Amino acid sequence: MLGEGIVKGLAETARNFFGSYVSKDRLTTIQFPEERLPQAEAARNFPFLVYDGDDWQEGLRCVACQICEKECPPKCIFIEKSKDKKPDYLGKPQFYPAVFNIDVSVCMSCQICVEVCPFDAIEMDTAFELSTDNRFGGLLWRKAQLAKSNEYFQTIHPIGSAEVDERLTAAKVKAEAKAKAAPDTKPTTSPLPQTSSGPPTTK
Ligand code: SF4
Ligand code: SF4
Repeated sequence: MLGEGIVKGLAETARNFFGSYVSKDRLTTIQFPEERLPQAEAARNFPFLVYDGDDWQEGLRCVACQICEKECPPKCIFIEKSKDKKPDYLGKPQFYPAVFNIDVSVCMSCQICVEVCPFDAIEMDTAFELSTDNRFGGLLWRKAQLAKSNEYFQTIHPIGSAEVDERLTAAKVKAEAKAKAAPDTKPTTSPLPQTSSGPPTTK
């Protein structure tokens, strides 16, 4: 029937409108910004860099491998690798990003950078109130702005972060066991730093 879809849409709107007086489930709008809907686990906006511990510079997981920079379809990631190294969460000396910028005016929130990162160092944020009157500089996010703690990651993506924490904790336990098993050989790793990679696995 011609216009059937329009009639159905109007009927649904009417059901929600009149139903909202008797049932909260029919109230499909909220008084934003005073009220906010909880974000879904799968919600995503722009990427951020995860760090462990209290010091974001020391705790950044990113080792500046530049895979995400190469794979980003619109090429909105810019990385400069450091000249020196710092210990990663396993204690291995690794490069770190001296510069890490994302131009979020270009980013299309595809999440490919997250998928290709071998170090679980970059994740998708859910923050959306990001407007600025600085069209260029205000949308070029630098390392300090991109760095967010693992506790924040756990808050916005509890299921995804638990999987990552479990994987990293298992890798750390394995590295510690390997280091203990070879006490007389020259250590190839420096002492293990504390990470905030969440609770240890229950397995
Ligand atoms: S989400 Fe996609 S477009 Fe945005 S920085 Fe990552 S790879 Fe690039
Ligand atoms: S975020 Fe991940 S993929 Fe990108 S440079 Fe850092 S470690 Fe490599």
